[in-house]
Formats: sequence, C-alpha cells, structure tokens
Amino acid sequence: MPELPEVETTRRGIAPHITGKKVTRVVVRNPNLRWKVQARIDREMSGQIIDEVSRRGKYLLLTTAAGSAILHLGMSGSVRLVNADTAPNKHDHIDIVFANRQALRLTDPRRFGSLHWTRRPPLQHKLLCNLGVEPLGDAFNGDYLYRISRKRKVAIKQFIMNSHIVTGIGNIYACEALFMAGIHPGRAAGRISRKKYALLAEVSKEVLSDAIAAGGTTLRDYVGGHGQAGWFKQELHVYGLAGKPCISCRTLIREMRQGQRATFYCPQCQK
Ligand SMILES: [Zn+2]
Repeated sequence: MPELPEVETTRRGIAPHITGKKVTRVVVRNPNLRWKVQARIDREMSGQIIDEVSRRGKYLLLTTAAGSAILHLGMSGSVRLVNADTAPNKHDHIDIVFANRQALRLTDPRRFGSLHWTRRPPLQHKLLCNLGVEPLGDAFNGDYLYRISRKRKVAIKQFIMNSHIVTGIGNIYACEALFMAGIHPGRAAGRISRKKYALLAEVSKEVLSDAIAAGGTTLRDYVGGHGQAGWFKQELHVYGLAGKPCISCRTLIREMRQGQRATFYCPQCQK
C-alpha cells in the first residue's frame, strides 16, 4: 500500500512534469473508485493550468486557478506520465491529459483510490479538514504528542496511527519508529513521558525521511515506463521480521495483533 513516503516520492516525481502545464481533458474510463468520480471534473479542470502539486497526508493536490483535484492512491493505486496515445490497460481508470500530449494516468486495480474536484481551498475539503498534523512538519513534536496524549489509554501504536492526530504514519513506519524510540507498542499513550515523545517525534521524521530518500532512485519510474511504479524497499529493523534477532540485542523479534494490524517489536528493547 502506498504510504506517505511513496506519495511524497510520487509528488516529487510528477511535479516537474505537470506544473505549469495546461489540462485539455480528464478522461474517466471508470468512475467507480472508492467514491464515484464527479462527472464535472472534465469540464471544470479542462483549460486550467496546474499551478502547484502538493501533498496533505496521503492526498496529492493538483491546484489550478479554478479549483483543485484531490487524488488518493488507496491500497493499490499509482500514477505515471504516459504519452496520451498510449493504449490504456484494464486498470488504467483515469487520464488527466495535458496540452503537450502527455497524460497523468491513474492505475488502480483494487479501486480504493479516489479523485475529487473542489472549487474551494482544498484544505477545507471534507477529506482534508480533519486531518492531524503533518509528521514531517514542525507542529509534530514531543510537546504536541505529550499534550494531546494525557489521560489517553489507547496503545501508543494506535495513537500515532490515528490520522486525526498525525496524518501519514502507517503500520510499517509506526513499528519502526517505536522500535527506534524504545517504546513498547502496547503501552498506553497517556503514560509516556515528554522526553520519550520528543524522541518518538524525532525518529518518526527520520524513518519517513529515509524512506523518501530511498524513493529518490525510483523517480524515473514515473515517466514513460510500463506497468506499475515499483515501490522501493527500505531497510527495516522490526517490520516483517518476527523470529529474526533484534539488531541491537539479538532477542527474537515478536509479532502481535493490534486492532486489525500486525505489530512487530523487540520485547527486550521496547518497554
Ligand atoms: Zn532488542
């Protein structure tokens, strides 16, 4: 599943190719994504110039003078730039076609992604207005986490994966950040010190930034290319490594379930 680093890598990959470009049409072959794509997007986006490609959480925002397209890649979505004449494959549901005959093509086999058009400032859109702070921004820090976690009994892993608190720390990155901060994933959020939270915020930024940096080598996949952009593999310390020795203490990494998600942790290093 595309997580925040993949979305940010996508943004960096496509932005130089579509910023300043004029949209000539939006071809919706299959509107039945997670939410039905509005028919008016073709009429309203056509003729507009992409002023900016930005990101909020895991949403990509293509902003024009008339409004913004809000794109989410869901579970299996990806975008790439193709020649507009390239024949679509089965799961190529949407093309945003530009005057230079290139098209930004959305491929999404499972159709959990989405595309919305809004005339209002995109951050006011219902999908975005309740999102928590950006994990790579200054507002995400130890003081913030400490302050909003007081009296909360929820497990810290679920706490930092709550998109109303901080948006875009997915399962892999939550496991890795908690390992790096030495915090047991099942610990109550309200019982973690300010100092530990400062460390957690710091290592979370590190884990995400490292993933984005690792994605830099795949930028070429967003232009031309066939099929889906291959997500990069980052070096992981606990995620998916149950039964393997911890790199720090050699204790075997354990797996447990939290909510619907698998959690990986070192029972020795994480308290
Ligand atoms: Zn360990």
